[in-house]
Amino acid sequence: MEDYDYLFKIVLIGNAGVGKTCLVRRFTQGLFPPGQGATIGVDFMIKTLEIKGQKIKLQIWDTAGQERFKSITQSYYRSANALILTYDITCEDSFRCLPEWLREIERYASNTVVTVLVGNKIDLLEKREVSRQRAEEFADAWRMCYLETSAKESDNVEKLFFDLACELIHEA
Ligand code: GDP
Ligand code: MG
Repeated sequence: MEDYDYLFKIVLIGNAGVGKTCLVRRFTQGLFPPGQGATIGVDFMIKTLEIKGQKIKLQIWDTAGQERFKSITQSYYRSANALILTYDITCEDSFRCLPEWLREIERYASNTVVTVLVGNKIDLLEKREVSRQRAEEFADAWRMCYLETSAKESDNVEKLFFDLACELIHEA
């Protein structure tokens, strides 16, 4: 007997430095590691949620330093049920790279994959380079949900994974 009702594989992608590892750490361990302490050093983390009496096991994959385009290949995307495409709201460049990431997704991921766009570091609003409206329009155009998070302040991090799990149950 399995100890869960659903098992979903979630993969985080996006430029280096946008906060993927911190988001995973915040969600799975409740920690925000300062400075360079962010590397988890394992391929994936497991977290189990309970939603409406059902046990949802999430297998969360973080890209450990492989963020350069083309170095993350099909094997990484294969069997992902969901992708969290992350950029940093204080870094225009991380936003401008999103179309490249979306091309990778189209090329390698399953055509049923659920992709959510995340603008991280909203605790640094005064340094914001990408407006919420611009990001929402971009997400709409690609039919993605959009959420702004702070791994540091724990803003919307639970919601991100919860909403994703709910959507995956709905699609399953
Ligand atoms: P990754 O390369 O995408 O995995 O990014 P990391 O998780 O290693 O984070 C890169 C840097 O951004 C680190 O210095 C983190 O401390 C910082 N960082 C990550 N998330 C946040 C956040 O929500 N707010 C702030 N202020 N800094 C963050
Ligand atoms: Mg990382």
